[in-house]
Amino acid sequence: MFWPLLFGCFLLVVVALWYFRSRAEVCPQCSAPREPDHPLCSSCGWIYEVPGDADDDYGDADDEEVRV
Ligand SMILES: [Zn+2]
Repeated sequence: MFWPLLFGCFLLVVVALWYFRSRAEVCPQCSAPREPDHPLCSSCGWIYEVPGDADDDYGDADDEEVRV
């Protein structure tokens, strides 16, 4: 009866949690909140993003072997 409604709310909660997790990213090593514009954790130096690894926007992965 109200299970579809409950399932909808559950989906909303999951999406909201995922959204906030992606927004407020925390360090996987020391759980410190990630500071924006900082690729490294300010507490333990954890590397959130490897530079050059997240350039999916360009779409040309052919020249990866050229880079050293
Ligand atoms: Zn950290």
